[in-house]
Amino acid sequence: MREGLTLGILGGGQLAQMLALAALPLGVRVVVLEPDPNAPARLCAEHLHAAYTDAEGLARLAECSAVTLEFENVPTEALEALAGRVPVRPGAALLERTKHRAREKEALRASGVGTAPFVVIESEPDLVGALATVGGRGILKTSELGYDGKGQARVNSDAELSVAWAGMGGAACVLEGLVPFVREVSLSVARTAAGAVAFGPLIENVHRDGILRTSVFPATGAETLEPQARELARACAEAWALEGLMTLEFFVLDGGQVGSTQLLVNEVAPRVHNSGHLTQDGGGLSQFEAQVRAVLGLPLADWRPLHPTAMVNIVGTDYVEGQPLHPDWDGIDALPGTHLHLYHKAWRAGRKLGHVNLVAANVEALAGQLAALERLIP
Ligand code: AMP
Repeated sequence: MREGLTLGILGGGQLAQMLALAALPLGVRVVVLEPDPNAPARLCAEHLHAAYTDAEGLARLAECSAVTLEFENVPTEALEALAGRVPVRPGAALLERTKHRAREKEALRASGVGTAPFVVIESEPDLVGALATVGGRGILKTSELGYDGKGQARVNSDAELSVAWAGMGGAACVLEGLVPFVREVSLSVARTAAGAVAFGPLIENVHRDGILRTSVFPATGAETLEPQARELARACAEAWALEGLMTLEFFVLDGGQVGSTQLLVNEVAPRVHNSGHLTQDGGGLSQFEAQVRAVLGLPLADWRPLHPTAMVNIVGTDYVEGQPLHPDWDGIDALPGTHLHLYHKAWRAGRKLGHVNLVAANVEALAGQLAALERLIP
């Protein structure tokens, strides 16, 4: 029987909260190791309130059936301490790649997956000629600890590049060429320790100020793009010996002719992803249940919504006349097909605080309702 399984999670943010909410009905209890006393997952999981490297906390995680994570920047020492005591999925080797932009891009290329042109910047001489190499316009990104557009700067000249790099304290960076994408899409892949592979749906994403604003299923052009995205995801999952679930974010390039679209991978997250939140309410299996199943070795098939579904993120706004702008909560509740998901986090500008999923009977209705929903969320 399933009951008796316990899932350990490194990290206790909203992704851990939603993983726990998906695990409980499966008979799976969840334990999170998380230093923040107000972590969202504390409300629905056993909260080990300690540092990620805390010996007692790690000993408790080592008693679980398996351990997964909800963010990539888990200290290497924590993974080393768990090694050989409990399966950690994904494992240390995959995390070492995905938490470092330069290593990740090199690993993608080695797996035959296209990326934006890039140059690794680690010291002053690396700046010389770098911008020309990536096409004259680029984005400088720190190799580590960047997320939601943080640790990034757009640069259009060598002078701007030097200033931007100095502004990042001379940290190890990647300079990427600016990709002229027509759309952004994402797709998750899960793989069990036994090697069974399953895919999530292709989802179309729109960002605002470097932060995800909306996600929509089905994605435009999914008929041709989804098979391509699956093959790229499968290639990475197998080459990197994935155990668990990971998400690939893609740029869609328009080759100028019908059917000549091409996918480049922007980023890989070794976990569920914000773009997949809409799977919670589309009627199919959610990405959270998929990760729980993949990590614990429970049966898992491809997962996708049964209805057209969208998501709008609720992100803390800047203060306007001394007050943050709040969503129109009553308006959201009154709109048919909406499902509110709040993370129980304190309001802060630029912080992800929740999301609203929206389900509709067909894609036309979804587009209309989504436009209405976006007007209610600043
Ligand atoms: P990232 O933090 O790398 O996911 O970047 C956040 C967003 O910035 C992406 O989803 C894109 O919308 C945009 N972006 C990042 N890298 C590039 C690039 N090389 N070319 C064009 N847009 C980019």
